[in-house]
Amino acid sequence: MVGIVYKSTGSWYHIKADNGKFYECRIKGKFRIKGIKSTNPIAVGDKVVFDIEKKGDEETGVIKTILDRDNFIVRKSVNLSKQTHIIAANIDQVFLLITINNPPTFTTFIDRFLVSTRAYRIDTVLVFNKIDSYEIEERAEIMYLKDIYTAIGYKCIEVSATQNINIDKVKHLMVGKTSMFVGHSGVGKSTLVNAIEPVLELKTKEISDQHKQGQHTTTFAEMFDLSFNAKIIDTPGIKGFGVVDIDKYELGDYFPEFFALKQDCKFNNCLHLKEPHCAVKEALEDEKVSWSRYKSYLQIIEGEEETEHFRTDIW
Ligand code: GDP
Ligand code: ZN
Repeated sequence: MVGIVYKSTGSWYHIKADNGKFYECRIKGKFRIKGIKSTNPIAVGDKVVFDIEKKGDEETGVIKTILDRDNFIVRKSVNLSKQTHIIAANIDQVFLLITINNPPTFTTFIDRFLVSTRAYRIDTVLVFNKIDSYEIEERAEIMYLKDIYTAIGYKCIEVSATQNINIDKVKHLMVGKTSMFVGHSGVGKSTLVNAIEPVLELKTKEISDQHKQGQHTTTFAEMFDLSFNAKIIDTPGIKGFGVVDIDKYELGDYFPEFFALKQDCKFNNCLHLKEPHCAVKEALEDEKVSWSRYKSYLQIIEGEEETEHFRTDIW
């Protein structure tokens, strides 16, 4: 049988098979994936092949193999073993929620986030929430940001989760895909998800209530099917989107507008800093590359860790 992992407790995997039925599956013996040192071999979103075992009326599954992952996000463990924990796999897209105020979302945060999703090969859609609440200046800020990010290939949507504005546009992009919603605490992730599918809110609440009662000390990611042929991955309690270690010579490749210009730089290992005949710097002077993006690039490359801004939590 082939199926997708919807939930994992570490020893059991809740798997939805191709036939639409759910099976409780486990792994027999040691299960290692080449090249990845992680505390969990299989994560939510993994596609697996499993065999059915029958005991009386009960049917359970034994996982045989994992199909190749399109991508995965990790959390580095804090201890010295440097082992990673795979939070989720095969994510089609992330919706990054942005608010201008309450709370403010800074471009340095957005740009760092986009570097990590690009490195993880996950599509990102920028969702500007709370548009019902903005004055002229804040609206101008959104226009400015939308211009920057649309020009470099990111989809941007303005929504109001509470006033039900453009929720259909978000849903439309979700059809047939597995999505995650991320952004600072308070940007409106739960409100938006609730506007997208009210039933889901209930499900996620039930889970967090269980956690409150102390039945589990760790929170696990979980996948949910929505009513309109879409999947969502909920990752309660996860505060980071994984830190990507990127070599400084590679960083520019994760800024799509820099990457597009790179071949015109005089040196093929150009860092776009003080090198002569740098196409990125020239484009910056001509206002074809945005200063705000370049500033974020400098900040990352100079290693000024503004951890507060780099952190994100996932509803
Ligand atoms: P989360 O921490 O990202 O899950 O944010 P919540 O969904 O809990 O929302 C935080 C606060 O923002 C709540 O008081 C919401 O009512 C409010 N909020 C969410 N979306 C909107 C919106 O579109 N407009 C306005 N004015 N407030 C919103
Ligand atoms: Zn250059």
